[in-house]
Amino acid sequence: MKFDTFSEYLSRMEGTAGRLELAAQLSELLRGLTPSETPAALYMVQGQLLPPFAGEPMGMAARLLLRAMERALGDQGEKGRSRDLDALLAEVGDPGLLAERLKMGREHGHLDLSGIYEALLEISRMSGSGSQDEKISRLAKLFQGVSPLSSRYLARFVMGRLRLGIGDSTIVDALARTLLLSPAEDEKAWKTEMKRIRQRVEGAYNLCSDLGRVGEVLRREGIEGLRSIRPSVGYPIRMALCERLGSGAEIIEKLGRAAVESKYDGFRCQIHCDGSHVRIFSRNLEETTGMFPELVSEARAILGRRTAIFEGEALGYDGENDSYHPFQVTITRKRKHNILEKSEEIPLKCLVFDLLYLDGETIMERPFSERRRLLEGVFPVHRPKFSEREVPPDHVFGASRLIETDDPHTIDLFFDEVVEEGFEGIIAKRLDGVYTAGSRNFNWIKLKRSYKGALSDTVDLVLIGYYRGKGLRTRLGIGAVLGAVFDPESGRYLSIARIGSGLTEEKWKDLREMLDDLRVPEPPPTVRSGLVPDFWVYPKIVVTVLADELTRSPVHQAGRSEGEEEGYALRFPRMVSGPRADKGPEEATTVSEIRRLFELQRQRSLRE
Ligand code: ATP
Repeated sequence: MKFDTFSEYLSRMEGTAGRLELAAQLSELLRGLTPSETPAALYMVQGQLLPPFAGEPMGMAARLLLRAMERALGDQGEKGRSRDLDALLAEVGDPGLLAERLKMGREHGHLDLSGIYEALLEISRMSGSGSQDEKISRLAKLFQGVSPLSSRYLARFVMGRLRLGIGDSTIVDALARTLLLSPAEDEKAWKTEMKRIRQRVEGAYNLCSDLGRVGEVLRREGIEGLRSIRPSVGYPIRMALCERLGSGAEIIEKLGRAAVESKYDGFRCQIHCDGSHVRIFSRNLEETTGMFPELVSEARAILGRRTAIFEGEALGYDGENDSYHPFQVTITRKRKHNILEKSEEIPLKCLVFDLLYLDGETIMERPFSERRRLLEGVFPVHRPKFSEREVPPDHVFGASRLIETDDPHTIDLFFDEVVEEGFEGIIAKRLDGVYTAGSRNFNWIKLKRSYKGALSDTVDLVLIGYYRGKGLRTRLGIGAVLGAVFDPESGRYLSIARIGSGLTEEKWKDLREMLDDLRVPEPPPTVRSGLVPDFWVYPKIVVTVLADELTRSPVHQAGRSEGEEEGYALRFPRMVSGPRADKGPEEATTVSEIRRLFELQRQRSLRE
């Protein structure tokens, strides 16, 4: 496909709000591509060069981009002088619109999608002396070979600002639709079939976390081809998540006899071992191997030449007091430099809680109790008494602390015990439950410490706007932010709270800088808000918020998607974390979780 044709699709999608409509357009685009062009198109519509776990971000500095434009204009006189381009960019505000206006290429460009994609991949990998100049001239050539409209998307893409709002679930919809055209006479049958295909596509994605790969296999071999996508070492599996319930009794009612574990508050690590090769992935599937040298060496020592994929929570460990550090201390291990020094200062212990793959076999589809038995055959199990640690001295890995019971009272006692020790709460697991990659359901149920008089859990909100500061906050340039929850059904972000407290001055300033980088003139089509902030931002940053309670609200949009008159709002919200690097916007709290929290709160108030 010519890149210009691809850009015309992008232009249409840019102006589209509804997820269904977006998926229909994307699906049309996909049908016009060859299988081998599919991965490039799918990565690029999400503003990426490769799936996130491959770590190939595109984010060229404005300065380099302007120099490439200047070079693309060549001797087109005054308008190509970078001084002027700086001024023009300040005036236009958007590098894409500037690139389009400059008309660097021709009406009909000759470059195709694959050629541009390969070139961008090469550009992003260039390093060392002379690489900047080479990057500039390669990019300039690309600008010269495409239409002005294409330059718009190319410029935004290289700066990491494409922001079409196409989430993973929209891509899954679009891929499913490539197999099933629009509803013919029988819409009901079409919907059922669509749901079936969608589940297969999503299932394959959950196992390899690579939509490009799924797309290519689907386009080449059809739905049956997806069977070839199986868990493999080196490809992160999308992580299983928990539902919430309010008490031990509710848990037993739901699960019957269950396994119950401590809920540790550290870094979730999915660890892949293949002989001596070890890779670690975070909660949002980014590679974090470099951050955890001790996990790498100990995993090697334990597993030797065996292959395995397992998950655990890594916590900072205070050897003097034989206790784990709180998250605020553990998080200081997150760094790019002086890692070894830091690992001596704050060593880690990793509490292993699941085993997904072992010795070439997929284990994740087996019942939890069987996975646990296998896990205990690999990792040290230390059954600690109260206040003892799970990981034996001189070890890094240990099996998570676990009890098995069908007695609500025993769960409540275990809960009190772990909370007293400073843990977040407990996670109960269905004994015969499989590991449900990429989904939140009742196979795992969390019960968290409840804050006195407060909402029983924190929520993770996506920031969609911010307000200028007043009074003392004037000099920070930010007084409050507008937060939203995610609605996976519609792909929309729905406002739920204006949050003006919880951060230190320094953190407010950092947050404002990050938000400034995401400012957009209009609310993006995926955003629905009852309040109008001073500045809208592209929904990307997720923060954790605690509030006194959830109330019904005539102002906010969360919870109105089903035609309800009132939405939900958070009362007295405050941020308990700055931006969370481990969560993307689609992983924020969802509307249905808010409904559940509201229900839990109602039941609690009835009990009290
Ligand atoms: P939160 O913000 O509450 O940590 P989350 O959205 O990141 O939640 P949840 O589904 O609420 O994820 O909880 C699962 C998280 O709890 C996992 O991502 C993992 O990091 C952590 N965890 C701690 N202990 C365990 C355990 N024993 N079993 C499974 N997950 C655990």
